Amino acid sequence: MTNAETDLRQAIIDQSRFMNASGLNQGTSGNISARWGDRMLITPSATPYDRMTPEMIASMPFDAEYGTWEGPLKPSTEWRFHFEILKNRPDMNAVVHAHPTYCTALAINGREIPACHYMIAAFGGSNVRCAPYARYGTPELSVLALDALQDRSACLLANHGSIAMGETLDKAMWRAVELETIARQYVLALGLGTPVILTDDQIAETVRGFSSYGVQDDWKDIAAGTALAGPGAKA
Ligand code: 13P
Ligand code: ZN
Repeated sequence: MTNAETDLRQAIIDQSRFMNASGLNQGTSGNISARWGDRMLITPSATPYDRMTPEMIASMPFDAEYGTWEGPLKPSTEWRFHFEILKNRPDMNAVVHAHPTYCTALAINGREIPACHYMIAAFGGSNVRCAPYARYGTPELSVLALDALQDRSACLLANHGSIAMGETLDKAMWRAVELETIARQYVLALGLGTPVILTDDQIAETVRGFSSYGVQDDWKDIAAGTALAGPGAKA
């Protein structure tokens, strides 16, 4: 295993720990995957994140027989939807699945998140859909999730939780956190009365603005003071 692959495996573990430490998720619920060339790296099933080490991360080749995996521990039971998302969305390189309280509360009611806040645009359109219920880990759930993710970068799973994806692992986690934030805001707003929902035009305008907004992929370079600035650099 190259150092770069070990680093990505460690980053998956770090994000898994962050997911629980931040309160976004709890216990061994949830799972995280990332693209590594022609393979998917994914957290193993039912393994506490604080005991996870890079070699425990499962590896699943995209081109081998469906379901083939390598590693000392079984991949997450949700490997199917992670695998299908990464295969079908070449623009996306990481997937975060969690059971965040407010996302799940809405999903228990089978409710989508409408354009109650302009941040809905971070997920590609004017709503975040809720996929109908299917048992965890099933091919049916994978099909329903992919359908709910059409033209979007996140969805809710009925009576279950959320999925968020990203061009990078950092961006997938950024979306997972933003999704739970907007879910919390929407639930609170519902308790106060009838939320005002933004129009499709208002959201389309914000989606356009978001092409130059969000977690910057080169944030590590920026933090290290080595980011390139110059002609073409945009604020
Ligand atoms: P795993 O422990 O198999 O990843 O499953 C957790 C989960 O969230 C199932 O939906
Ligand atoms: Zn789950």
